Amino acid sequence: MRSAILDRFVQKVAQIIQTEGAACFSLGVADNRLHPQAVISRRDGITRDSIGHVNIGADSAFGQAVDNALTQKGPVVLTDATRIDRLTVQPPVLVMPIIWERDPLESEEEPVQRPVGVLTLWAKRGGQYDEDDYKLAETLSGQAAALLVEEQLDEFDDIQAAFSTVPVGLMLVSPEDEILVANGAAIRVIGIDPLQGRSVQGVDYGEQLADLIEAVRGSPDGNAVAAYTSRENETFSASGQCTQDEQIIIAFTQNPFSTAAEELTGQVAHELRTPLTVIQGNLQTIDLMIEGGVQAEDQEIIQEFIDTALIQSARMFRLIAETLNISRIHAGKELELDVEEFDLVEALDLILNELEDYLMGHNLDVDAPDELMIEGDRGKIISIFDNYLKNAAKYSDTGTTIRVRVYEIGDDEVAIEVTDQGIGIPRDDLDKIGKEAGFRTDLSKDQAGGIGLGMVYTRRVTEAHGGRMEIESEVGVGSTFRSIIPKRQEQRQ
Ligand code: ADP
Repeated sequence: MRSAILDRFVQKVAQIIQTEGAACFSLGVADNRLHPQAVISRRDGITRDSIGHVNIGADSAFGQAVDNALTQKGPVVLTDATRIDRLTVQPPVLVMPIIWERDPLESEEEPVQRPVGVLTLWAKRGGQYDEDDYKLAETLSGQAAALLVEEQLDEFDDIQAAFSTVPVGLMLVSPEDEILVANGAAIRVIGIDPLQGRSVQGVDYGEQLADLIEAVRGSPDGNAVAAYTSRENETFSASGQCTQDEQIIIAFTQNPFSTAAEELTGQVAHELRTPLTVIQGNLQTIDLMIEGGVQAEDQEIIQEFIDTALIQSARMFRLIAETLNISRIHAGKELELDVEEFDLVEALDLILNELEDYLMGHNLDVDAPDELMIEGDRGKIISIFDNYLKNAAKYSDTGTTIRVRVYEIGDDEVAIEVTDQGIGIPRDDLDKIGKEAGFRTDLSKDQAGGIGLGMVYTRRVTEAHGGRMEIESEVGVGSTFRSIIPKRQEQRQ
C-alpha cells in the first residue's frame, strides 16, 4: 500500500521536473543493489515490473553513475541513452542520490546521514536540466527518503510482529557474522556505534551474542532466546531467529511481556506516520516551488499538494480521536456520541478521498444513492468506513475488487457495507471478530500487521448507535462487513 504513495510521488516528480520518465530505487540493506520501488514512463510504458535489480558500480554506465552520485552525495547527469537493467531510457538522465537525514535523537549523537536509494529522471522536455531542476530534484529526493525509510521501518515492524515481545533493539547478522543493519536501540543496548559493518566478534560483550547465534544455528526451528547483560549492566532478553537466507535477526527486549498499551502506541505511531509524511513532503515542495517563483502552470500542482495535505491532516485528527476512544473503551468507559444530522454519502466520499493511497491498487466499486441523510456521530461513523475499507485493502491482493455499498433497509435503517475478494475468515473465527480485543485470525497474521482493535471499535460504534454488525465470509473467496444502523437517534435517547 505504501508503494501506491511512492507511485504517485514519482508521477508528481516527472510532472514537476517535466520529464518523460522517473523512477525511485531503494538501496538494499543486505545486498547493496538497487531495487525499483516506483517507475513511471509516459511514452514507453515501462513499469516497475519490467525492471529488475540493478548492480551499483562499473558493470554499466547507470551503475557507475549511481555509484558516483552516492559517493559525492550529489546529482550525476548522463547525456546518452542509458540502459537500466533490460531497458533503455532516453537522455538526459539525471541520477539524484536519496540520502536520509535525521537530527540526532540525543544531543551527544551525530546527525544521521544514510544513502537509502536513488531518484532517476530521464527524457527531460526541453533537453536539459537547470539549477532549479537540481534543487527541486534534491528536495523531492528528501521526500522520497522519508517514504523509503518508512518502508524499511515497515519491514522492521513485520520482523517485530514475528516476535511476541516488544523489541527495543533489532539487528540483522549475515551468515559470516557481520552486522548488516542495526537500529538505534540495538546500538544503545550493545553500547557501540555504529554497529553496521562490524563483526559480531568485534562488538560482543562476554561472548553473549556468539552463544546466542550458536544456539540459533543449532536449534531445529531456528529460534533461541537468552538473557543479555549490557556493558551498563542492564538486563535484556535477546531472541534470535534465523531467516531463509541464513541471516539472523536478533531482537533485544527489555520486558518479556508486551502490554496492550505499548502495542497500541506502536500502532498509532505507525498509522500517523503515513499522513504526516505526506503532509510534510507536500509542504516542503510547495515551499520550494514558491521560493523558485510560481509560474502560472504551477498553480494547479500547488493546489493539489495543498488539498492532499489538508485531507491528510483531517485524517490525523480522526485517527487520534479514534485512539483516545479505544483507550476509553479499554478503561471500561462508555462511548459518547456527538449526534448530528449529516449526509452518509458525503461522509463516504470524504473517506474515499482520504484513503486514496491505501485503495489505489484495488478496483473500487462504489454503490450509493446521491444523498442519504441520517442522524449519528459523523466522525465515528466515518471510522466505520475507514476500518472496513482499510481491512478490505489490507487483507486482499492488489488488483482485486473492493465493493462499498450504502443503502436503506426499510424506512428506518441504513447499511454500510464493504465486500472484498481477500483471504476470508474461517467460520469458527467469525464470532470473535470485533468482540475479543486483540483477536486476529491465523490467516491474517501471515498477510499483514495489525493488533485486532479496529473491529472492536467499529462494533462498539455501531452498537452505540443502536445498530448491529454482521460479517459474512468464505476463506479464499472474500468477506463482507456490514454495519446496520437506525436512521434516527432521538427516539433511542
Ligand atoms: P487488525 O487488522 O489491526 O488486526 P481489526 O480489529 O481491524 O484489527 O481486525 C481484527 C481481525 O479480523 C484481523 O486481524 C483479521 O484477522 C480479521 N479481519 C478483519 N477484516 C478482515 C477482512 N476484510 N478479511 C479477512 N480478515 C479480516
